Amino acid sequence: MEENPKCPKCGSDQTIPILYGLPISNEAEKRGEVILGGCLLVNGSPIWHCKKCHNRWGEFKC
Ligand SMILES: [Zn+2]
Repeated sequence: MEENPKCPKCGSDQTIPILYGLPISNEAEKRGEVILGGCLLVNGSPIWHCKKCHNRWGEFKC
């Protein structure tokens, strides 16, 4: 599994990717490995979520 980046706000490594619009099983979300960002993904949508301070950052590019 690839390593997640650290949170730029608090420096925590408790970060998870935000997934959009994927009809996947939410088992990974139940385990807290990912977070679902809803079905709409647009340019500039955040792609990382910090579980510690709830910061969201990153930028999706189509
Ligand atoms: Zn953080």
